[in-house]
Amino acid sequence: MPRGARAHRTVPSARLPGMGDTMEAYRIVEWEHPPQLTEAPVPEPGPGQVLVEVAGNGLCHSDIGMARMPGAIGEAIGWKVPFTLGHEVGGRVAALGAGVTGFAEGDPVAVISPRSCGHCSWCVRGEDNNCRDSFAGRGYGMDGGLARYVLVHSARELVKLRTLDPTVAGPLTDAGATSYHAVRRALPRIRPGGTAVVIGAGGLGSYAVQHLRALTTAQVVAVDPVPARLDYAVELGADVTMEGVTHDTAGDILALTGEGADAVLDFVGIGSTILAGLRATRRGGAFALVGAGQGQLEGVSLFDVLPKDGEVFTFQAPTIADTLDVIALADSGRLRVDVDLFPLDRVAEAYEAMEAGTLRGRAVVTPT
Ligand code: NAD
Ligand code: ZN
Repeated sequence: MPRGARAHRTVPSARLPGMGDTMEAYRIVEWEHPPQLTEAPVPEPGPGQVLVEVAGNGLCHSDIGMARMPGAIGEAIGWKVPFTLGHEVGGRVAALGAGVTGFAEGDPVAVISPRSCGHCSWCVRGEDNNCRDSFAGRGYGMDGGLARYVLVHSARELVKLRTLDPTVAGPLTDAGATSYHAVRRALPRIRPGGTAVVIGAGGLGSYAVQHLRALTTAQVVAVDPVPARLDYAVELGADVTMEGVTHDTAGDILALTGEGADAVLDFVGIGSTILAGLRATRRGGAFALVGAGQGQLEGVSLFDVLPKDGEVFTFQAPTIADTLDVIALADSGRLRVDVDLFPLDRVAEAYEAMEAGTLRGRAVVTPT
């Protein structure tokens, strides 16, 4: 639609006073180049769409991977540059497209992290994280939340917040909900009084500690090379911490548990964490590969290392149901939400802090 054109009469607010044509946004402009703060068009909501004013956008380690991803891979999965990073959005409804019901301007909302169509066979089964539409979405191949406004393609991707401040809600939609998906999948393998291991107690992993504490009676082990991350994990309920992963980690977990852990959730995903995690999983246990470290196992006999009668799984992104659960937990005060706030002009510094392991909560950028 040409700029300034109106889809229909019921969107008089698509351009609010003071809403210019462009806004500052943190974008991947060129493949394999550092993202830049640059100008991007302010989107207008078409029929069925919603414009959200971003109160806070959580930073994910995946963003760093995207910025370094070879362009050929990006193009192959249909992503186009430039696009604005940021897939953990909390904010307020700024404008409604035609036909959107159930929301009003100013409503505090969290935005479901992956996109989904709502009518394919995956979506109707509630496995919307596997919908083909999720291959590209806000902050990965399309404009995301590191800007004042973000366009939401359907109101089914919005969750209305009850008591939660939208500034801090964004990380729940990915860090909180992705870790919840991993814990929920592993639950049937975790015996009462058993052991669950979290490798990488960062943004996702520290939420996993909380979910394991809330949903199981397992002893929770956190493994991370950064001592401050381990201290934080203990605050959130971890019983045992291990500095690593080192070559001893699997042996240490076997020594602690006798026969291995019921579940190992790997939020790093490099060769050494995958191998240690698999070795530390008991017979009948579960190993989840969540981290996108692209680890490879060479010269390893999988027959010897995979958990006998157990389960090994990976997945990408949470479902809408996971997100609703996690937001309900946080909205009722049963899940701790810690964030480190950064203004948009310090976004690069926030990513550096994430890589250096000096964040406490999830880094959240406040563009407004
Ligand atoms: P983060 O940087 O907040 O946390 C990573 C943690 O791992 C840090 O605390 C770091 O100290 C620790 N770590 C690094 N090397 C380690 C090692 N060798 N052994 C143990 N711990 C180690 O990152 P995050 O945002 O929580 O993301 C974690 C991973 O999950 C990333 O790879 C990200 O791309 C991926 N991710 C996957 C999904 C999915 O759906 N599968 C969704 C979101 C993020
Ligand atoms: Zn779908």
